[in-house]
Amino acid sequence: MAGGAEAMTVTTTTSAMVCSHHHLYSALARGMPAPPHTPTGFLDILDMVWWRLDRCLDLDIIEWSAKLGALEALEHGCTAIIDHHESPNAIEGSLSVVADACAEVGVRVSCAYGVTDRHGPEGAAAGLAENERFLREGGRGYVGIHAAFTCSDDTLAAAAQMAVDRGVGVHVHVAEGEVDDWQRLLPLSRPDWLLIHGVFLPDDHGLQGTLVHNPRSNMNNAVGYARPTRFANTVALGTDGIGADMLEEFRLAYVAARSVDVTSTPDLAWSWLANGWDLMPEAGDDEVTWAAADNDPWWLAFSPGIAAVNVRLGDGDLVLDHGVATRVDADEIRAKAAEAARRLFVRLDDLD
Ligand SMILES: [Zn+2]
Repeated sequence: MAGGAEAMTVTTTTSAMVCSHHHLYSALARGMPAPPHTPTGFLDILDMVWWRLDRCLDLDIIEWSAKLGALEALEHGCTAIIDHHESPNAIEGSLSVVADACAEVGVRVSCAYGVTDRHGPEGAAAGLAENERFLREGGRGYVGIHAAFTCSDDTLAAAAQMAVDRGVGVHVHVAEGEVDDWQRLLPLSRPDWLLIHGVFLPDDHGLQGTLVHNPRSNMNNAVGYARPTRFANTVALGTDGIGADMLEEFRLAYVAARSVDVTSTPDLAWSWLANGWDLMPEAGDDEVTWAAADNDPWWLAFSPGIAAVNVRLGDGDLVLDHGVATRVDADEIRAKAAEAARRLFVRLDDLD
């Protein structure tokens, strides 16, 4: 703990946070027009909300959405995002737009395009091509798959092979809802895969990879609690697109674990958060100064609303100075993102 004499505040430091599963394209979704009917289940939520939103994205909307998401991550002490992207009407170049937006803000990002056969074999091919292009040009990322249940066998096999060829893992939603034939991933999965959610996986599912737990999103979609302690897999924490306030997600992960097992401790949820540093190691060298008296997980779990004061990257660059981003103009990003959101909402209103 360091005493902040200059500002008369009590502070503590940790390594910077990692969000191990995000959808930066959803940063503008807040306040979006209501869907044609109120979704009554998880598949309906995809159909009525996210699969309408992603069709309306263009590269300009993606850019401002990613900049806003990256800015808000930085303002919450998160310097590394593992992003999963889909924009079926603006696929080519989309991963570079996300990567450039994050770099401008000073946030590290690992990108993936979530391939799917929902838009026919041409759509799947275009998604695969975007993953390939981005990785071949030196981009950091995974090969993305939306989920087994929206992909043909050929698409799953092609994505898995591409990941092997490029020396990266696959980033895929798994058993988030009850309907998901995740078993088709069994012959393909490898230790460097990211398996997102796993709510409906059996305890001994046999898939290889890191299981990324997103408790707030799971609650929000009413799919249930993943109970991640039952798996042999390493567990990391993500937000599934609901911001990148990882201390907040840690607190929720703790209390969700506690709600089913009174012996669960903040150390457990903190270990999930800490596993992000294996996925994005540079964030472990970035430092956040928090407006808090202590950085013990037991202390942090019961202290809502802790503010990130300063964020210093491992190379010494101060990218957040007393809560203010230094590389970009936060007000400009918020204004441009609001403009992009207005365009997005008009398109959503115009959809069938
Ligand atoms: Zn997701």
